[in-house]
Amino acid sequence: MVDLQSQYAKIKDVVDPSIQEILESAAFINGPKVHQFQKNLEDYLGVKHVIPCANGTDALQIAMMGLGLKPGDEVITADFTFAATVEVIALLQLTPVLVDVDPITFNIDVEAIEKAITPKTKAIVPVHLFGLAADMDAIMALAKKHNLYVIEDNAQGIGASYTHKDGSKTKTGAIGHVASTSFFPSKNLGCYGDGGAIFTNDDDLAHIIRGIVNHGMYERYHHDVVGVNSRLDSIQAAVLDAKLPHLDSYNEARRNAARKYTDAFKNHPKITTPSGNTTCDGICDTCDCHVFHQYTLNLNDVDRDALVKHLQENNIPCGVYYPIPLHLQKAYRDERYNEDDFKVTNQLVRSVISLPMHTELDDEQIEFITSTVLNFINQN
Ligand SMILES: *Cc1c(COP(=O)(O)O)cnc(C)c1O
Repeated sequence: MVDLQSQYAKIKDVVDPSIQEILESAAFINGPKVHQFQKNLEDYLGVKHVIPCANGTDALQIAMMGLGLKPGDEVITADFTFAATVEVIALLQLTPVLVDVDPITFNIDVEAIEKAITPKTKAIVPVHLFGLAADMDAIMALAKKHNLYVIEDNAQGIGASYTHKDGSKTKTGAIGHVASTSFFPSKNLGCYGDGGAIFTNDDDLAHIIRGIVNHGMYERYHHDVVGVNSRLDSIQAAVLDAKLPHLDSYNEARRNAARKYTDAFKNHPKITTPSGNTTCDGICDTCDCHVFHQYTLNLNDVDRDALVKHLQENNIPCGVYYPIPLHLQKAYRDERYNEDDFKVTNQLVRSVISLPMHTELDDEQIEFITSTVLNFINQN
């Protein structure tokens, strides 16, 4: 699904000496590289504070701890996403409230959020799923109306921009009250191990969160709040700082691959290609609402699992993100859920398929992948 070796070969000249420098300095934890990367990422995103941490799951958890959410508070998120989002809500003894997604964008359905709001609701967690910015203007307006926090899960969307109604643009992760991201190797900005970060424009919240990631310490050996130990190490920061200047071109390479996939599949009666948000089709030249963490097709009247098998037999990797709705996972079942409220997710889990998507795809690979998919669909 990804080709990290070829990508590494192109930046080896920068990455290797930078890692070597850390080995020699022995500043493995909280070294100057971590600070440098943090500053550079703040500039890139246009966000006031980046607080690095150990991974994207921690980042979500710490964001919720920083907001002071308390057991019993309800947090609304999408039924169709990676489990980390709902996991940390449950882990903090908050009450996850899963809602359905939009059938075209696959992102959280704003009307479904509004229906799910109760007096106990404290926060909404939109996920920029597969790299497409969620409908942030609508979500922020809803949050304002009901006095709720918005925590953006930007693990799949780093580098994407959201175009507001007035035409201005903001990078995803810089719009909500707080945001999280992951630097897992296969993410759009990935390190060579685990890593993550929290973003916010709120000075007070940033201060609280900087203490939480460091055992609740604001002054050495004074523990004011219950914290965690969650750090980005210097070696990972060195890798990320070497890759950050390439993030836009990496995302452009993904968007180029997406354009070629979409050209091959468009107008096929059995294939729905990915969409952008309401203002574009996700692959236009003028905006970057979609950074294609995944390139995901929605199939109509195709035996999806047989196609998966056929691709595997042809040595084409593919993925099903995600095969089971979160509300049906054993850990997150809740008798309050009604199947009728999850029509879209219940369908998508059976009809989506994600094709290889990374920065190193060439025309020959794309042509082989698209023709193999089309041959199967046209013959079955
Ligand atoms: C990857 C991912 C996470 C978790 O990130 P880790 O660094 O693996 O902990 C959270 N949310 C979403 C949507 C993700 O894709």
